[in-house]
Amino acid sequence: MAKRFQNPKGTRDVLPEEQHYWRRIESVFQRLSDVYGFEKLTLPIFEETSLFQRGVGETTDIVEKEMYTFEDKGGNSMTLRPEFTAGVVRSYIQNGMASLTNPVKVWSTGPVFRYERPQAGRYRQFTQFNVEAFGEIDPALDFEVMSLAWQLYDELQFKNLSFQLNSIGCPVCRPGYLEQLKSYYHKNLHIVCDDCKSRLDKNPLRLLDCKNVQCQPTIQSAPAMKEHLCAECDDHFKTLLGYLDDMKRPYVINPRLVRGLDYYTKTVFEVWAEGIGAQNAVCGGGRYDGLAEMLGGKPTPGIGFAAGLERIVLTMQNQGVEVDPIPGPRVYFAPMGDAAKRASVRLITELRLQGIESVIGFGGRSFKALMREANRRGVRLVCIMGEEEISKNVCQVKDMEGGEQKSISLEEVIPAVKEILSAGS
Ligand code: ATP
Ligand code: MG
Repeated sequence: MAKRFQNPKGTRDVLPEEQHYWRRIESVFQRLSDVYGFEKLTLPIFEETSLFQRGVGETTDIVEKEMYTFEDKGGNSMTLRPEFTAGVVRSYIQNGMASLTNPVKVWSTGPVFRYERPQAGRYRQFTQFNVEAFGEIDPALDFEVMSLAWQLYDELQFKNLSFQLNSIGCPVCRPGYLEQLKSYYHKNLHIVCDDCKSRLDKNPLRLLDCKNVQCQPTIQSAPAMKEHLCAECDDHFKTLLGYLDDMKRPYVINPRLVRGLDYYTKTVFEVWAEGIGAQNAVCGGGRYDGLAEMLGGKPTPGIGFAAGLERIVLTMQNQGVEVDPIPGPRVYFAPMGDAAKRASVRLITELRLQGIESVIGFGGRSFKALMREANRRGVRLVCIMGEEEISKNVCQVKDMEGGEQKSISLEEVIPAVKEILSAGS
């Protein structure tokens, strides 16, 4: 027997019965992006490997362990995108978006790839909704990006939303803080994990988000960036908090929330929601005022966030959020005999041209089999035709709601069907 294939580990097939969640989520994205003034940007799924090495950072888990990198037939190293931001910044620079009216605000969605250990809600191919805004340092923009994330989850009926928030400073104030953090860790080196020992030199800010139980007490007592912000960063952070207070958005200032690389600056945030299990974060984002320059552009501030769609779907399913099903067919054609089939094919083609969801019974099925299919498809109307109907140039139109059946001349079938359907349920 020929080999039967399986989807690759860490990927999933989204079957038709789950698609109504996806459609709902996507329609909320699209609408809210319009409401907040973000335009859609569609990007390639793979980019030059070095873009991600620089844009995500050599010392991150993503670049060190998780990228799907391959050499193409021209000998170039390519990587399936593990996130959106690097590609979006690449596109902003390449397409001269700095000369547009700034801020430039864009959103994207699609698959991203990370070679991770698959588990519930953690896949090797997953889907992100990604938002970026460039060219403005005003904390009102930070608030806007955070608000969009918030409203997204709120409209999808996530419960008990709150922000986790931090400021990681900037190249002016962070180096001094990092020195303090490092000397604190040097004193505690005997009680932290091996990963943290290597982070100390490579990427000290990342010490603060170590998940290892053994390192938690050290993290708890570590000096906090917030106490070391320069006047500009402190003012930026306080202004942002003011907007959040005004709108009564609950937030927790979490000094362990960090991004490990120099080009990430100031605001870092996550949205948390109830019932996500061990990982409460439903999306994460922050500022990266140094990234555009790092990727060869002019210095350009930026802020964005990314949300994982699979985790949104899982949460909606777990919390029993009701989502309207995608409408199925409303009309079923049940022809018996060649002449009836021909007339039915003609009618259904016309009906579909007019946008009415309709399906037809194929092959030479019996009346009973046709009616069984019509039932299973859940249609409102069945158009039944056999030899007798053809000889009289009519069609029997049966209303499955109430069971009424009328004989309608073929010329009148389409307007009659449309009228019954538009008369409502
Ligand atoms: P985590 O801490 O769960 O690994 P992360 O910090 O790596 O998340 P980001 O890079 O900020 O996540 O990506 C944004 C969002 O993408 C996450 O909040 C999550 O919803 C989703 N996400 C990240 N990794 C995966 C994955 N392997 N499978 C499914 N969704 C994911
Ligand atoms: Mg991760």
